[in-house]
Amino acid sequence: MPKHTSQRELFESQPAWVEDDARRGTIATVVLPDGVDKPLDYLVPEPLAGAVEPGRRVRVPLGRGNRERIAYCVAVRSGELPQQPLKAVAGVEDDAPLLSRRMLDLTKWMADRWLARWGEVLEAVLPSGVRASRKPRLTPLFEATGGNPARKLTPAQAAVLAAAAEPRSADDLAKASGASRAVVSRLVKIGLLREAGAVEKGVGGSAPRKPISHDRPDALSPAQSQALESILAPMRTGRHETIVLFGVTGSGKTEVYLQAVEETLAAGKQAIVLVPEISLTPQTCDRFRARFGSVAVLHSHLTPAERHDQWRLIAAGRVGVVVGARSAIFAPTPRLGLIVIDEEHETSFKQATAPRYHARDVAEWIAREEGVPLVLGSATPSLETFHRCMQGDWKMCRLADRVGGSQLPPVINVDLRDPKSRSRGAVSPRLAAGIKWALDSGGQVMLLLNRRGFATHVQCRACGHTARCPQCDLALTLHQPGNRGICHGCGLVTRLPANCPDCSAPHLVHRGTGTQRLEEEVRGLFPGVRVARMDTDTMRSRGSHERTLDAFRAREIDILVGTQMIAKGLDFPSVMLVGVVHADAALHLADFRAAERTCQLVTQVAGRSGRGTLGGRVVVQTSTPDHPAIVAAAKHDYEAFVRSELPIRQALVYPPFGCVVRFVVRSIDEQAAMNWAGHIADRLRKEVAASGAAAAGVRVLGPAPAPIARLRDRFRWHLQMQGGDGDILRDIVRRATATLQTPDSVAWIIDVDPVEML
Ligand code: ADP
Ligand code: ZN
Repeated sequence: MPKHTSQRELFESQPAWVEDDARRGTIATVVLPDGVDKPLDYLVPEPLAGAVEPGRRVRVPLGRGNRERIAYCVAVRSGELPQQPLKAVAGVEDDAPLLSRRMLDLTKWMADRWLARWGEVLEAVLPSGVRASRKPRLTPLFEATGGNPARKLTPAQAAVLAAAAEPRSADDLAKASGASRAVVSRLVKIGLLREAGAVEKGVGGSAPRKPISHDRPDALSPAQSQALESILAPMRTGRHETIVLFGVTGSGKTEVYLQAVEETLAAGKQAIVLVPEISLTPQTCDRFRARFGSVAVLHSHLTPAERHDQWRLIAAGRVGVVVGARSAIFAPTPRLGLIVIDEEHETSFKQATAPRYHARDVAEWIAREEGVPLVLGSATPSLETFHRCMQGDWKMCRLADRVGGSQLPPVINVDLRDPKSRSRGAVSPRLAAGIKWALDSGGQVMLLLNRRGFATHVQCRACGHTARCPQCDLALTLHQPGNRGICHGCGLVTRLPANCPDCSAPHLVHRGTGTQRLEEEVRGLFPGVRVARMDTDTMRSRGSHERTLDAFRAREIDILVGTQMIAKGLDFPSVMLVGVVHADAALHLADFRAAERTCQLVTQVAGRSGRGTLGGRVVVQTSTPDHPAIVAAAKHDYEAFVRSELPIRQALVYPPFGCVVRFVVRSIDEQAAMNWAGHIADRLRKEVAASGAAAAGVRVLGPAPAPIARLRDRFRWHLQMQGGDGDILRDIVRRATATLQTPDSVAWIIDVDPVEML
């Protein structure tokens, strides 16, 4: 045996665990972030007695090697020690708990609810900057020394010095003087500026982007007042209630949130406002910033350190309003008074990686525990939410009309099956006429096409060969310029050949229109008109999204072409025409929510038209004009769709009438993926049979290749379990998977209540 090994063993024979004589002692239960699922008990040694407490992280020896690992302490108890000796906690990581008792309870509940490991949930609710414990960041302040310059000052230097009459941060100085930060550094170097203390970084930096035009209205509409009262009534009595604001875009929902938050702050409490994605909802964030002084906006561009700063300010109660995407629900508000979720139907509220939680359910848990109102707002509430209202669990408030009385725009359906409505491109004659009408009337146009790129696939006219991604089961999308084939599954970029790689025939044809080609077509149809495109390809750089929207608002753009990005929470009074180029693009996906998503998207984007005094129209191009999702969206009658869709869901025991648990198995080896999916399915079926759950309507479907059967060189198989009662399903899964030994060749996931079915 090599020498170092024996030395190590010698070292390990030191008492990392403690033989106990006293029989009584203090035991800490800890959860590891990964590796071991089960909570573990450790003895708390006397010197650490005061420091080991729930919510702090500790170091514990693990396994035969007694390697030290960081773990979350979730409970501490004193009492009789067990027969077999316990190892002892080796040290404490945090000088204060990172997680409150309530957060510990929440994470435990989340782990059970979404069949995740408690440790991974604990990691997920704490921003990484918080876990990497560090000192608060201080920003140095500078002031003018008053010394005499050796040389004549440049105008920029003079401006900075003038601004530095009182201590300010370098950023502030640069902003106030219009000079660059380099000028500030230079002035420090030549001794004309000096450090004058420091401040904690934090809320100060989140100034509004620009002056806001949205003012507080003098009076609420009757519907708004009623909705606000429905929120304030439980708030006053410290009672939990979920209130759903179901109102078309422009019906004044955001104003109701704002005034509810106002009351929350007036009562000395804090509010959390969730939005689908910060960068897509700049207007909503601006309105909160403009109305309230201390708003923490938790967006994805924050560095871990900045996130930590915000987290500490919130925890210290120094921030009244927290606005953020999904994970902002975990903001450590000590005096929570209200939770708002705007656009509650958005799928981004469900996390796509483990733990696969839904922020709406988490919010309900927190709101119930804290006894505070939860407000869900949408023009197109999810069927889950609708159902809860119909059950009487939640209260629905309708805001049926637009504020200011503008009418919802008439919708014209263009039946693409009709030869008369076809054109050479993607814009039908009716749509072109609509665009012309809007432009001639001095209005703006938005065109929605939920497919980016130039052509959706490239095909050989001679042999039918379609260019596919070498590592995914997906056709390559043509992107211009450069004739690049990009895989929208894995992002792989290839140069598309001019001739067919299969039969060498010339001319590959470009099939299907993406936003790039649409933009080109529109430019061709309306020469001289200013067109811009908004999709993930054009919006890669930070701030480009806001710049484009600002330009559109300033009417420097006439036609905005884009993907669903343009359908979100935007308010442009001059938009007179909204065109939906291909309404049923997503209608036939292998997803039981395909119709719901389509209806939501078309309804949402249709609501962008005619918000101003000019009026507006909507043109919807579709090959399925009779589909309930399209019919309802065309009538601005989302509820009609809900009424037609609910019985279908009920018949199939799909949500909201049932629960779905989805398993996805991935492997380089197709056989291995298939076998493992089959093995899981067998185990599930056995459990279903043994527990008599089949009688309760529990079904196992599959395994089968997933709709995207290969992604990044991994074959994908999936299976699904369905039933009326989620708790029964979870129990079956726990029992069926408890002793599974996953082979190295596969990876697999469990997704409870999936929103992504591909
Ligand atoms: P939603 O969130 O439902 O889209 P908003 O709250 O953004 O609706 O309201 C739409 C527009 O009407 C905004 O410009 C808002 O400032 C304005 N508004 C809202 N409520 C009122 C009111 N009671 N009186 C006057 N204007 C209002
Ligand atoms: Zn690919």
